[in-house]
Amino acid sequence: MEELSEPLENYIKEIYELEEIKGKAKVTDLIDAFHVSPGTISKAISRLEKMSLIERKNGLKLTPEGRRIAERLIRSHRLSERLLTDMLGLDWIRSHEIAHKLEHIWPDDVLEVIDSKLDKPSTCPHGHPIPGRKVDLGILLSEAGKGKYKVIMIVREEEWILREAERASLFPGKEIEVIDRDEDKVHIRVTDKEYVLSIPMAKEVMVSDR
Ligand SMILES: [Zn+2]
Repeated sequence: MEELSEPLENYIKEIYELEEIKGKAKVTDLIDAFHVSPGTISKAISRLEKMSLIERKNGLKLTPEGRRIAERLIRSHRLSERLLTDMLGLDWIRSHEIAHKLEHIWPDDVLEVIDSKLDKPSTCPHGHPIPGRKVDLGILLSEAGKGKYKVIMIVREEEWILREAERASLFPGKEIEVIDRDEDKVHIRVTDKEYVLSIPMAKEVMVSDR
């Protein structure tokens, strides 16, 4: 098979993550995620189709082979993040950035060593499941009514989102309470402190459905 370039690998990963969160991936989601032109995306999609890694079926869908490649990369990415935060003490913004490079380099047997040294974690530091390990999904904080919840994951690992999550102590596993909400804000309490989140930010936080 033709060697997969790093940009193509990144598209495959993104499609996997979109399927994971939204149930399916659309071309417009890819354009948004990579800030590239529709022409660039459609070229990449055609190549991936030719390589039988994706198919167009009510949006974009990974074939079993595409899924296998995506899972390998995502597993490597998420374990790399854990390695950088848990063992080296880096923050979750840098660990995500550096993991983009590391994910491409580990041989399979080294990845197994990393996994077992980390005690086979079920998620990355941002709450995304390591492929093959089960995590219960919930609802987005933007849709949550008043009440108590637990943070499950930060949906997109972009810098502004992770900074804002950090400011409001929104880490996976944290108990939070929605105390009030209106059209454009969600008011929450996290360990005795109150924070106001914008709706775009609240859409980036997945919480347990009670
Ligand atoms: Zn992560």
